[in-house]
Amino acid sequence: MNIGIIGGGASGMMLASLIKTKDKVTLIDANAKLGKKLLLTGNGKCNFTADDFTDLHNIYNNDFARAIYKKYDRDSFLSFMKSIGIEPKLEWHKGRGYYYPNSNKSTSVYYALLDKIKANGVNIVYNAKVINIESDNNKKTSDNDKNATNYIVETETDRYVFDKIVIATGGMSYKNTGSDGSVYKILEMLKHRVVKPLPGLVGFAHNDHDLKGLKGVRVDAKVIATIYDKDSKILKEYIETGEVQFNENYVSGIPMMDMSRYINRYIDDGYKVELRLNLYDREDIYDYLVKRRENLYYKKAQDFLCGLLPDELANVIIKRTQNEMHNDTSNRRGELCEPEVENLTNGFLKSLVKYITNFKIGNISLGNFDNAQVTLGGVDINAVNVDTLESKIYKGMYFTGEVLDIDGRCGGYNLQLAYSTAVLVSHSLM
Ligand SMILES: Cc1cc2nc3c(=O)[nH]c(=O)nc-3n(C[C@H](O)[C@H](O)[C@H](O)COP(=O)(O)OP(=O)(O)OC[C@H]3O[C@@H](n4cnc5c(N)ncnc54)[C@H](O)[C@@H]3O)c2cc1C
Repeated sequence: MNIGIIGGGASGMMLASLIKTKDKVTLIDANAKLGKKLLLTGNGKCNFTADDFTDLHNIYNNDFARAIYKKYDRDSFLSFMKSIGIEPKLEWHKGRGYYYPNSNKSTSVYYALLDKIKANGVNIVYNAKVINIESDNNKKTSDNDKNATNYIVETETDRYVFDKIVIATGGMSYKNTGSDGSVYKILEMLKHRVVKPLPGLVGFAHNDHDLKGLKGVRVDAKVIATIYDKDSKILKEYIETGEVQFNENYVSGIPMMDMSRYINRYIDDGYKVELRLNLYDREDIYDYLVKRRENLYYKKAQDFLCGLLPDELANVIIKRTQNEMHNDTSNRRGELCEPEVENLTNGFLKSLVKYITNFKIGNISLGNFDNAQVTLGGVDINAVNVDTLESKIYKGMYFTGEVLDIDGRCGGYNLQLAYSTAVLVSHSLM
């Protein structure tokens, strides 16, 4: 049997490293090098799986992903890694466990897989972008020939015939790693529905003038996103916590990236989405500020929050509070002209509580694919058999990795999905 794997990223490499059949296996990739994205993962350290898979941490299309994960879980993956020479290590950060290779290098994982692929005798074809897929008899598979078992795969320069093919072409983020989404169009021609791809695990662009000066500021916060329906009623609310990073027109950091997976579809659908930060999450914050006023009575009002929050952010909060007090005529009793902390009124402190715990990031929009770590959307899982990952439309066509409409949060979940799907397909091919 002649098997073609299209795409030599994390999942295509994993699959090619596992196939032990006597079949002829060809791995085709658009790049001069396999695994370009894999090499970037975890800031070059490759965070390849996670400690906590309870509820799979809200992986999109969770039931589908859970069924796959159950068949090949973290421990099976770690055993495989050990068998190819990679010793895993677990690192903890803010209560979450992240697995990396002990070498701290994604290159180790890359070479461990590549050596195994070569040992398996897989024929690797580099610099070969697939531009078309057809079934045998020169008949387009889009004619819905369910019995088609041969595939003709065309690259810009060559033509290959396979009995079975695996689509492992990833999503469309970080295009320079090769995953440019070009295969979606081919799959749509083959009548495979592709759920609209959107950038995921990405920050948000914003158009909030107050925040322009915050470039480089990092702060621990609770991030709250509220989605409103057409009647301005709250439809959904999502919460993430962690370090938020500000750029000139952009907010990022892990909680924002994780949040993007929940809310980007709503933003794209035109829902009103409000993004807020709770910058000091304690119930008695008002009492705390009263005490702080007592302690810091001698300071300038402008500096009241310095030491509690980064200076630039503290300035924005004081400014927003002052503006509100100034606009509220009933409160115009000198907050702006009395610049000492001891003169800050209880009304001012109440207003300050609001701006600290409900700090709005105005006019957000989708981040872009060039910065996104994953793609939301992809091949509709309803047309894919969850037990084999074979297409329900075409016999002998399989899918692995991010090309499928599944995605997970930051922390090793996406690579685990890429590997679990690859293993499942390797079983289907044997
Ligand atoms: C900067 C960054 C950091 C990340 N860090 C982590 C992390 O630490 N942990 C984690 O779990 N996940 C991480 N991810 C996500 C993870 O890398 C991906 O989910 C994973 O690589 C997906 O694997 P894949 O094989 O499905 O796709 P990819 O790795 O994208 O591979 C797809 C391959 O298909 C090839 N291809 C595409 N189209 C064609 C075509 N038409 N013809 C031929 N070949 C084609 C491409 O060249 C590419 O080699 C990160 C992503 C990025 C961008």
